[in-house]
Amino acid sequence: MRIAFIGLGKMGSGIAWNLLEAGHQLTVYNRSPEKTKRFADRGAAVADSPAEACRNCEAALTMLADDQAVEAVVFGKDGIASALPAGAPHISHSTISTAFARRLTSEHEANGQAYLSVPVFGRPEAAENKKLIVVAAGASDLVERFRPLFDAMGRATFVVGAEPWQANAVKLCGNFMIGSMMESFGETFAVMRKAGVDHHAFLDIMNELFGSPVYKNYGGIIADERFSPAGFVLKLGLKDIRLVLQTSDEVTAPMPFASVLRDHLLDALAHGQTDLDWSSVGIVAARNAGLK
Ligand code: NAP
Repeated sequence: MRIAFIGLGKMGSGIAWNLLEAGHQLTVYNRSPEKTKRFADRGAAVADSPAEACRNCEAALTMLADDQAVEAVVFGKDGIASALPAGAPHISHSTISTAFARRLTSEHEANGQAYLSVPVFGRPEAAENKKLIVVAAGASDLVERFRPLFDAMGRATFVVGAEPWQANAVKLCGNFMIGSMMESFGETFAVMRKAGVDHHAFLDIMNELFGSPVYKNYGGIIADERFSPAGFVLKLGLKDIRLVLQTSDEVTAPMPFASVLRDHLLDALAHGQTDLDWSSVGIVAARNAGLK
């Protein structure tokens, strides 16, 4: 397929690479142009604007930081909305708000364009290794037509609804689950350390109990305090917890733990952890317990 791919950050670069490897024709765009070089060397075309990238495409895929980045790339000057051919959907992989996903749906529709929300679970290593969990929502015929793209970037695709924003609700709630796990590790490791118990031994027991690669991976990062280089920076993690709270407001379903997590991420931000991995929220509890 002829694909426009916009956003070659930590996640987008792995996804775009796997789409090329699967034989798709890519035209790439990134705000900082130096990130396009390795894709040009691998045979991708490079565009000077999002509009130029999607002029001839069958689908325009975006993997951008947040709502503001997607807004700039879609509705800004030379944005996707000004050039996307009718019938070629915009497929957004970014973790964005449910409200903004609804706006994307309605504005694309008003332009005669289609829209799918297809966020992903998995860190940059999972993106590189085609191990992402892909969550799609939107018109089922479109989801099925573009399923080969999702198969090329992940190990499993789940279709969760006919309205695109529903996939964003799933993604935000999933990240809340991961954030809650990191908070739990932070609190329990602090107690273990103060109780004189090796917190790595505690982690081994929890890995037996939960048997989850996510527990194993994040638990290990927090136990060893390996927060840099960041796979997912703390400021983007805070963005996701703020967004899940907005969604909880929209649907009137309180999330008291999410409010605590938001405050602890803010605490981490206030202590200079902005560009550390978001799992560094795990050291907030240690700090509160008077541990170094
Ligand atoms: P990242 O490395 O910071 O990449 C962000 C991308 O957005 C870059 O291409 C950046 O361009 C672009 N961008 C930011 N602001 C922009 C603007 N105003 N206009 C145009 N482009 C802009 O972030 P990432 O970790 O790949 O995350 C991307 C998305 O995936 C986020 O929504 C994140 O929540 C989600 N996600 C991340 C992970 C993870 O573990 N990292 C996992 C699942 C989902 P430049 O290169 O010019 O800065």
